[in-house]
Amino acid sequence: MKAFEKNIRKVEPYVPGEQPQHQVIKLNTNENPYPPAPGVRDALFGMDVDKFRKYPDPTAGDLVHTLAEYYGVDDSQVFVGVGSDDVLAMCFLTFFNSEKPILFPDITYSFYKVWANLFRIPYECPQVDEAFHMVKEDYYKENGGIIFPNPNAPTSIYEDLDFVEDILKHNREVIVIVDEAYVDFAGASAMELVNKYDNLIVVQTFSKARSMAGMRIGYAIANPELIKYLNDAKYAFNSYTMNQAALVCGVEAVKDKTYFEEQVQKIVETREWTKKELTKLGFSFPDSKSNFIFATHERYAAKELFEALKKADIYVRYLSGERIKNYLRITIGTMEEMQQLIAFLQAYCK
Ligand code: PMP
Repeated sequence: MKAFEKNIRKVEPYVPGEQPQHQVIKLNTNENPYPPAPGVRDALFGMDVDKFRKYPDPTAGDLVHTLAEYYGVDDSQVFVGVGSDDVLAMCFLTFFNSEKPILFPDITYSFYKVWANLFRIPYECPQVDEAFHMVKEDYYKENGGIIFPNPNAPTSIYEDLDFVEDILKHNREVIVIVDEAYVDFAGASAMELVNKYDNLIVVQTFSKARSMAGMRIGYAIANPELIKYLNDAKYAFNSYTMNQAALVCGVEAVKDKTYFEEQVQKIVETREWTKKELTKLGFSFPDSKSNFIFATHERYAAKELFEALKKADIYVRYLSGERIKNYLRITIGTMEEMQQLIAFLQAYCK
């Protein structure tokens, strides 16, 4: 071993879903199958590339203001970053500095554990119950902070705002982060609780309902004091996280509410159709309120199905892990894509 080896920060990285470079039916990374709002395309093609000479606005002022107006909060309550992964990582770095363990469910977004390890944050993972629901009483104990997605991933389960508020009521002394990457497909956002609980941070993304995973835009909404701490950490790390194209396109995406609502509606309808078809084929799953379904089959092993689907160029996500190794996470694509998936499964699961 080289002498410097012992001083290297060794981390077990997060493993993102595959991005195959050939044409496939891609239902493995919870992307949106529809294009972003038409205004995004126009803004991108109309961009003055001379602007690229200069650094972008470090405050991301226009995007922050557009989001603040959209959600009816003050500009000082909005923080933006390079996808919600960047925002969440900044939150971990800024707010989770206790010696007590932070809490997040055992079955959840696997990046939480990676950040906790990266930043040397102790953590505990209360088990979700047999039906994959979080047990709120598990979050009543002393802790150094709480984070959970709502809807949870990969389970797809949405807990109502009473559940979220109950956790907040029992945890007034620590920061509680609700990761709402999929909330647009579900129901009410915890954003309405932000002015009531000064320890709540709600994180959302442009990657799912807004069809812009490739642009990398995420944001947090909280009280101004917490947003100030987040910005301080950001400016201590990298002043210009958001590139010029993302800033411009992000604003356009938020402006087109009608388009956004139509796309969400289409995905929800396709999801409900897919649920019915999967049930007929012998699959079961928690009642999804997301843009994906977390399904297990009564007779076929998930890994086998995953591999057979992949051979047919239908990519879904298989996540190992003791409690979930017989499940597939299937993103909702277009109706045509889901019809092809179902046709394949009809032939396979005879
Ligand atoms: N939170 C959850 C629960 C997710 O599933 C994802 C997507 N992988 C993210 C956050 C991060 O998404 P993004 O960085 O694209 O905003």
